[in-house]
Amino acid sequence: MATNSLDWIDTELAKLEQHDLLRKLVCRETPQTVSVQIDGKRLINFSANDYLGLAADPRLSKAVADALRSDAWGAGASPLVTGRSQRHAELERAIARFEGTEAALLFPTGFAANTGTIAALVGRGDVVFSDQKNHASIIDGCRLSRAHVEVYPHADVDALQTALKSSGAARRRLIATDGLFSMDGDIAPLAALCQLTEEHDAMLLVDEAHATGVFGEHGRGTCEHLNVESSVDVRIGTLSKALGTVGGFVAGSQRLIDWLANTSRPYVFSTATPEAICAAAIQSLQIVQNEPQRRQELLGQALRLRNGLADRGWNLGNSASQIVPLFIGDPGSTMDMARELSQRGLAVPGIRPPTVPVGESLLRISLTYLHTREMIDQLIECLNDLRSNSTL
Ligand SMILES: *Cc1c(COP(=O)(O)O)cnc(C)c1O
Repeated sequence: MATNSLDWIDTELAKLEQHDLLRKLVCRETPQTVSVQIDGKRLINFSANDYLGLAADPRLSKAVADALRSDAWGAGASPLVTGRSQRHAELERAIARFEGTEAALLFPTGFAANTGTIAALVGRGDVVFSDQKNHASIIDGCRLSRAHVEVYPHADVDALQTALKSSGAARRRLIATDGLFSMDGDIAPLAALCQLTEEHDAMLLVDEAHATGVFGEHGRGTCEHLNVESSVDVRIGTLSKALGTVGGFVAGSQRLIDWLANTSRPYVFSTATPEAICAAAIQSLQIVQNEPQRRQELLGQALRLRNGLADRGWNLGNSASQIVPLFIGDPGSTMDMARELSQRGLAVPGIRPPTVPVGESLLRISLTYLHTREMIDQLIECLNDLRSNSTL
């Protein structure tokens, strides 16, 4: 029988609602692509991280269907027991080849890759230096590690240097950063971070979740884009954004991968990914390598969008990518604008605390390869129209 022990939740949910911070579950009624139906309404989709437009690509569905003809669905055990199949091994080799690293390790999600890797690299007596705008999975990894956590102001290399200088007594030092920041769409100062890493005998972890498949000549991410790959020991990626599937990975040296396979708790204690998903990811990596025009055109469209909005006076922060934030400030106005855009047929999510700091609520536009020039122009027109009708 139900007890009243969870009554407090009603109070807390009411508080969230009162502060415009209550999330409602949405349900998409059509496949995840550039146009989606929600609540019976068609929307042009500026909300997905499906940057290369692969989530609904029939080639991925076919790879899954083909795999299911020969493989069964479930992996049934953690990788170290009997969960890891030839297909997992094939995908890990494909990731390592793509990334140009000795080895790679597959995790259930990018979230697990971050928490599991950080907690395996540092512990008590160590210090982890974390950018203030890092993704939740890096933040949680830092907490789980039990290392001392030094959060430095966003992209502030001088503050990081000062913090590193006063960490002399620590056993190990790890600097952890998003390569491309998930809400601001700006790129970490990786060259400076690499230099500090070397000067202070630290390790550097770069999370390429939003940059894999998008940045760099071969689509390997921001480290390739800024030509620092050889100085970054630990690269994290996800299969769930530009690659259109699901899963996370770590790419690096064989000894790094050996260590993680032995000690990373989400790797050791979670069931391996279904093999058919590996087949989809292998297909997706091939598309990323064979169709560079997807990332090239995406970044071209993103530049057009940013120029179009900046010309009309929108505050885009330092966005330099396919992620374009419009800084609004308070959560109420942000959600009002998101609702208004939705009424006009455009899905642009409002992002509120705790995803962003208090006072920094924003509309997060994310572009994909499938957006047309007309769709982008429609978005710009609509935003300008909204603003001229309001106090923003
Ligand atoms: C989305 C995201 C992750 C998590 O990846 P999933 O595969 O979705 O779990 C990790 N880091 C960053 C920066 C992200 O944006």
